[in-house]
Amino acid sequence: MGKISGNGFFTKKCQEFFENNYGFKKCLLTSSCTDALEMAAILLNIKPGDEVIVPSYTFVSSANAFVLRGAKIVFVDSRSDHPGMDEEMLESLISPKTKAIVVVHYAGVPVEMNKVMELANRFGIKVVEDAAQGIDISYLGKPVGGIGHLGTFSFHETKNLQCGEGGMLAINDPELLKRAEIIWEKGTDRAAFFRGEVNKYGWVDLGSSFLPSEVTAAFLWAQLENIKNIQARRKAIWEDYAGFFEPTTTHFIPKVQSLKYLEILKSEIDKIQKEFSPVTFQKEHGNYHMFYMLFPNLESRTIFSKRLKDLGILSVFHYQALHQSTFIEAYQGIDERQLPNSIRFADTLLRLPLFYELPEVAKASFE
Ligand SMILES: *Cc1c(COP(=O)(O)O)cnc(C)c1O
Repeated sequence: MGKISGNGFFTKKCQEFFENNYGFKKCLLTSSCTDALEMAAILLNIKPGDEVIVPSYTFVSSANAFVLRGAKIVFVDSRSDHPGMDEEMLESLISPKTKAIVVVHYAGVPVEMNKVMELANRFGIKVVEDAAQGIDISYLGKPVGGIGHLGTFSFHETKNLQCGEGGMLAINDPELLKRAEIIWEKGTDRAAFFRGEVNKYGWVDLGSSFLPSEVTAAFLWAQLENIKNIQARRKAIWEDYAGFFEPTTTHFIPKVQSLKYLEILKSEIDKIQKEFSPVTFQKEHGNYHMFYMLFPNLESRTIFSKRLKDLGILSVFHYQALHQSTFIEAYQGIDERQLPNSIRFADTLLRLPLFYELPEVAKASFE
């Protein structure tokens, strides 16, 4: 059967795929994006008393990884026009204690990295790109995840490319390379030993078991072999939604989706618009990670989502604003700031189904 623990043939193939196709300096597969973020927090020597700036509208792991090292989290609001972080607000949140900024490319739409990197360089702060949703997309010609000092990716089954549970750390700052490999190998210099660089290996630093098994890496490799096909299918689904719901189009013919399924959705949207006020749709496609709608308020979103559920269509909202979470309140006290945009997106954003098998599933269920 051969080697099926970590750091074998398929792990190396996957890592090289990303290094060669996206120009990331060094990639290390992990068991999840959460793991990659935790590696980043160890690698940046985050300690109690340090502050880390994190969006309020993101998955808990973006902040939790730094809380595990004792950091205080300083939350940044979403933009008024997009759930991604408000780059203009960042500078006002920087203090002498700020050690890192975590950037989240929400919906695979890149954050204005030029602004973030300018601030980071001016103040000597490290940048971690949480690119869990940001696979295969560039910002001004540079692949996302390869711009900050570190980039983290997810291959969870809800992401564009998946292996059940999986992730990756991209190390772009050459100074962080050596320790990254040690932390990845449970705090030992085993990787250097296997390369023949040291004649025995031992415990040299902090670390944990961050490597996925070769079984997981092999599954991921099969996805990477099909990345063009997977991304093309997601693009077609996204464009069907965007084209079909666009209020100004009259005769849009969907490319891959079931017409019946889209018509059902559209008639439910129309009902909501009559009862409340207009809903709007995601404008920037990003890497076609998701297709979201924005409702006038929480009530209309709840009604719509319930109606879809009754019709057998699963729509899902997304994050609750982290700065108002019960955990953060207990951990570092109530955040008195409003951060109104993150709260608004928490209440009004709803994602429609977008996954590879959707065209077949919708056809089988609705035709
Ligand atoms: C999915 C996601 C994560 C967590 O990824 P896992 O691989 O499940 O750990 C972290 N951050 C963001 C922004 C995500 O979308």
